[in-house]
Amino acid sequence: MLTKTTENTFDEISVFFNRAAERLGLDEGVRELLRRPWRELKVAVPVRMDDGRIEVFEGYRIQHNGVRGPYKGGVRYHPSADQEEVKALASLMTWKNALVDVPFGGAKGGVKCDPTALSEGELNRLTRRYTINIEHFLGVNRDIPAPDLGTNAQVMAWMMDAYSQIHGLTPAIVTGKPVELGGSVGRDSATGRGATYVIRAIARDLGISLLGARVAVQGFGQVGSWTARLLWEEGYNVIAVSDVHGGVYRAGGLDIGELTRHVEETGGMAGFGAAEPVSNAELLELECDFLIPAAIDRVITEANAPRVQARVVVEAANHPLTPDADAILHQRGVPILPDILTNAGGVIVSYFEWVQNLYQHHWVKERVDQELLGTMTAAYENVSGLASSEDISLREAAFTIGVERVARVARIRGFL
Ligand code: NAD
Repeated sequence: MLTKTTENTFDEISVFFNRAAERLGLDEGVRELLRRPWRELKVAVPVRMDDGRIEVFEGYRIQHNGVRGPYKGGVRYHPSADQEEVKALASLMTWKNALVDVPFGGAKGGVKCDPTALSEGELNRLTRRYTINIEHFLGVNRDIPAPDLGTNAQVMAWMMDAYSQIHGLTPAIVTGKPVELGGSVGRDSATGRGATYVIRAIARDLGISLLGARVAVQGFGQVGSWTARLLWEEGYNVIAVSDVHGGVYRAGGLDIGELTRHVEETGGMAGFGAAEPVSNAELLELECDFLIPAAIDRVITEANAPRVQARVVVEAANHPLTPDADAILHQRGVPILPDILTNAGGVIVSYFEWVQNLYQHHWVKERVDQELLGTMTAAYENVSGLASSEDISLREAAFTIGVERVARVARIRGFL
């Protein structure tokens, strides 16, 4: 398993923010207003464990910036979730939501826990207690959580139920719910699908032929498994995938349908057919066309960035590259599709889900995918257009667009 430290995550995101603020000529006061989170809530989450003990977990909900609309962002269950990391991820949501122009501010939540070590009953109780303890921060026009690392549609169903016990049935309070409870069709695959749209767009711009393009995906959860599956269905050559325990590699390409069945049946990738084992660290250094970190943050650092051999790095996870790694790859001429663009499909379809809930109406899958394609394509064209006209990286362009939109609305609303 890879280790990571999170001490500097917020400062690292601030490096990207500062660069955009500099380019936009924002003065120090405005930068401070936009950099800082507006509200940070830390809560104790006591849970009766199956063996009768009480264990107290630590939970967070951080609202970074709400000038463009209600706060929006996922809830993460992970052993390394802490206030600093959640704060950093909340700020990414602010710039992401502005970049893809959904009418939300940025927020993030988290509970420091290992969800894989908890029983279903413990997870249910933890989720309810966490929800009740942050409930006064939430609201359908105030703050709307969603799934993230370590959480899923079931966790959203429990959150919705806990909130609804206080406020009456309120499906719009979370997105990423099961479809039976008002979730949107296409939300489960949305982040992965969105990533495939921007991969297709950059491949066209760089002249990379899609058929047979070699892909390596780190992470086989909600984001990684859909990304791998959709690319495989489109004829890409998915040569490696991994989860927390390690991965599998096959130069001639993996059958992702077979692999998915194998993982469902055995609970992991070990022992899968003709493929060779590959470690998470090795996967990041494979020669390929698209390297797609889709698991956790800060997996490509100054230590391994010089050894990355991909033609394009696709940030499906949030903040998988440190600023040092970003600089090294930029210097080496490796394009990076930045997280706030690449993985925005999740929040875009979350926005569609929220709209459907408010109107008590269901869209068909074709409409969801079509509108997702339109929104992702427009965002990609804006980012790549600014990057080439200003001769800057895709990340700097993406942050510049996001920060400019938030600053503009802050000014119109009278904050500045
Ligand atoms: P998930 O919990 O569904 O899956 C995470 C995957 O990563 C699992 O396969 C897990 O085994 C693997 N993993 C965990 N720790 C690892 C490690 N140390 N090394 C290698 N692999 C590891 O989470 P997810 O929802 O797919 O989220 C993945 C990333 O995508 C996160 O950065 C998240 O913030 C981001 N993201 C998710 C969404 C969404 O809609 N779920 C939207 C935008 C961004």
